[in-house]
Amino acid sequence: MAWGRDLIIGFPKLHECQACQGLFLANSLISGNTRGSRVWTDGAIHSPMLRHRPMDMAVCPHCGVLMRVREQHWIKGLPGTYGFNEADYSPEELDILAMDEEDPVSDIELIPLRRELTGVQVEQIPRFKSLNFQNWLEASDGPWVKTSKDRLAFRLQAWRCGNDERRYFGSSAMMRKREVVKAQRVIPEDELENIDWLIQSLDEGPVAGIYKVELYRHIGDFRRASKLLLNHFPDEFVPLRAYMNGLVDARDLRVQCLPHFLNYPKTEI
Ligand SMILES: [Zn+2]
Repeated sequence: MAWGRDLIIGFPKLHECQACQGLFLANSLISGNTRGSRVWTDGAIHSPMLRHRPMDMAVCPHCGVLMRVREQHWIKGLPGTYGFNEADYSPEELDILAMDEEDPVSDIELIPLRRELTGVQVEQIPRFKSLNFQNWLEASDGPWVKTSKDRLAFRLQAWRCGNDERRYFGSSAMMRKREVVKAQRVIPEDELENIDWLIQSLDEGPVAGIYKVELYRHIGDFRRASKLLLNHFPDEFVPLRAYMNGLVDARDLRVQCLPHFLNYPKTEI
């Protein structure tokens, strides 16, 4: 599989919702990478070269039920849907396929489905929907949660999902301190409750410590955020800690994109 591109998107897989038997499409990715990723102060990672479906969770576009995509039926008898046979496609088709980084289903991706599904309007089969804040919260009490760490992971995802409305794409250096607080959009009550829950539930590890600083920062409790930053952090956290300290000192409430030289160290919560 080599035609010189880094993002290689597979054909959408056709699934059947177990709850309503509605058909829906889900992306598949043959090859991706983290180039061009943005890492945010809340630990969210947005990667244009990866199609991201956190924890494989989705919402049925027909009945709205929450689901894990891999737990839904795959429609049998569509061999071309699940694999990829380069020989079936012209160079132009392959080129279009490799270029397609956006969500809408392109015609080219639907070729194998159309070949197999005679009599079905493939174009009318919707994609799964992504979870919103409320969906993540609901999922955190669902059957996917086996341990308290699972619940934490779902609640963190809910937090980040809510933050998506408030991400700041500008430079923090562009704003004066007194303008910063005004620039923050109001956090809705249910999201504040989730933030409280997370603060209570995160343990004392370094990643949890950084998350807590971030949570306190979002709600404007800079005193507690500062205090947490005085704790000991392992060496690999020093640059991130210094950056967060700068935001806390500036009384900056915004969800910021981390500079490229910073990252969340890859440590378990
Ligand atoms: Zn359904």
